Amino acid sequence: MALRICCDQPCKKYPPCRKLRRLEQILKILEAYIKLVKNSLNLLSFPVGSFACNCSILFSSKTREALIIDPGNDQDFILNAIKQLDIKVKKLLHTHAHFDHIGRSSEISTETGATLHLHKDDQFLYEMLPQQGLYFGQKVGAPKPIDFYLEDEETFSFEDEEIKTFLKTLHTPGHTPGSCCFYTEYFDSPHLFAGDTLFQQSIGRTDLPGGNSHMIIKSIKDKLLILPEDTTVIAGHGPETNIYFEKKNNPFLC
Ligand SMILES: [Zn+2]
Ligand SMILES: [Zn+2]
Repeated sequence: MALRICCDQPCKKYPPCRKLRRLEQILKILEAYIKLVKNSLNLLSFPVGSFACNCSILFSSKTREALIIDPGNDQDFILNAIKQLDIKVKKLLHTHAHFDHIGRSSEISTETGATLHLHKDDQFLYEMLPQQGLYFGQKVGAPKPIDFYLEDEETFSFEDEEIKTFLKTLHTPGHTPGSCCFYTEYFDSPHLFAGDTLFQQSIGRTDLPGGNSHMIIKSIKDKLLILPEDTTVIAGHGPETNIYFEKKNNPFLC
């Protein structure tokens, strides 16, 4: 079962989006969601932190194992959600090392014991987290070392026997050198967690350190547009989209 709360812009699919912005309201949804889930693999996506980074929690309703893609920069919110969902977070995966996606992962890792995963080409940005935090007006200490470097095509599994190799890593450099997307075919339609590589009718900016405008287009065309057209794209910020819509309507790709 997949529940996606997209709050940045009004959308027809989820009309109450704007009303869901407040933390308490989202947590109420979480509580109700826990009572509903029956499937083995579940997905909960919602914006978190001052820049509304779309965070995704994948978890097994059988074993309660979980992994989080882009926990963002608000550890109180995420730790509260983990408590409400009563899940054991094993891994924190990151699409890239910008502060709004990874800013409080060290704290979340310390609290939960979850391992930190990031592509090695973003290590230089990760080491700059204290400076990035200042840019966002937030004080950040030196981050914990990354436990595992993400590899292209690397897959992830849960101990739940019904959920094996459910998630695949796609290295998609361009927004940053170590940008990655994650892909799963476990739901009604495939899902792509695109980080800041692909947005609804837009692409990630490439004017920040390590960005490359040629590379991001190549990554999207070679790795993302070849995915099934009904793939739901959960972008790093803003509303969801799908591969078919972007092929037809994204001005950067047409
Ligand atoms: Zn970014
Ligand atoms: Zn971002």
